[in-house]
Amino acid sequence: MVRVRGVHKSYGALEVLKGVDLDVRTGEVAVVLGPSGSGKSTLLRSINHLEKVDRGYVSVGGELVGYRRAGTRLHELKEREILKQRTQIGFVFQSFNLFPHLTALENVAYAPVASQGRPRRDVLPLARSLLERVGVGDKADAYPRQLSGGQQQRVAIARALALQPRLVLFDEPTSALDPELVGEVLDVMRDLARSGTTMIVVSHEIGFAREVADTVVFMDDGRIVEQGPPSEVLGAPRHERTKAFLAKVL
Ligand code: ATP
Ligand code: MG
Repeated sequence: MVRVRGVHKSYGALEVLKGVDLDVRTGEVAVVLGPSGSGKSTLLRSINHLEKVDRGYVSVGGELVGYRRAGTRLHELKEREILKQRTQIGFVFQSFNLFPHLTALENVAYAPVASQGRPRRDVLPLARSLLERVGVGDKADAYPRQLSGGQQQRVAIARALALQPRLVLFDEPTSALDPELVGEVLDVMRDLARSGTTMIVVSHEIGFAREVADTVVFMDDGRIVEQGPPSEVLGAPRHERTKAFLAKVL
C-alpha cells in the first residue's frame, strides 16, 4: 500500500532524511519512534507531498505521490491533482487543527462538501456516524473551544476519515493531551487499526505500539535504524541507539 524508496530531503544544508525505505501493507499499522529532530514529521509530510522530496519516491496504493512518470523522468503533478491525491491520505496532527468557527459536525463534513462537491444532505449523516464512531456523537453541535483536547482530537480523527482515505497518517496525536485524555484517543486509534485501516503513526506511546503495531520503525538522524515487529524492535532491539532511546521512553 505504502512504499517509500530512497527518500532524501534537505532544508538548505541540513539533510533531514538520508535515504529512507519503508513499506506498509494494506491494513497494517506502522508506529514510528525516534528522538526529536530525527525526521519523523518530515517523513510523514513527505508521504502526502506536504514536503517535496529531493530524491527517491513515495507511492500509495500503487500510485506515485506528487508525480507522474514519463519515461525515466518524474514530472510534478499540478496543484489540483496533488490535492486530489491528498484526499486519499488522512492526516491527524498533534495540535488537532480543527476549524475554530465550525462545529464538530461541520468540521467533519467540510472536506467532502468543499473538496469533493458532495451534497451536504448526503454528507451530514456520514459525518454524524463518524462522530458516533469516535465517541463524540453528542458533541456534534459544539465548537472546538467547547471541547476537551481528547474530544477535539477525536473530532480531528473523524474529519480525517470523512474522505474515506486509503491511508491515515498520525503525527504525535496524543502528545499535546493531558495524560488522562490520552487513553480515549488511543482507544479510537486501536479500533481503527482493528477495523483494517492502514495507518502510519508517529508516537512514543510504547504500550500502544506493542499492542497495535504490525511494524515498529525506529528513526535516528534521518535514517531508519531498525524496523520489525514490536516483539523484536521493542522487546529485543539490536542497535545501541534503539536501546538507548527505549531506555529513556520506557
Ligand atoms: P520531533 O520529535 O521534535 O517532532 P521530528 O523527528 O518530527 O522531531 P522533524 O520535524 O522531521 O523531526 O525535523 C527534522 C529536522 O529538520 C529538525 O532538525 C528540524 O529542525 C528540521 N526542519 C524541519 N522542518 C524544517 C523546515 N521547514 N525548515 C528548516 N528545517 C526544518
Ligand atoms: Mg515531529
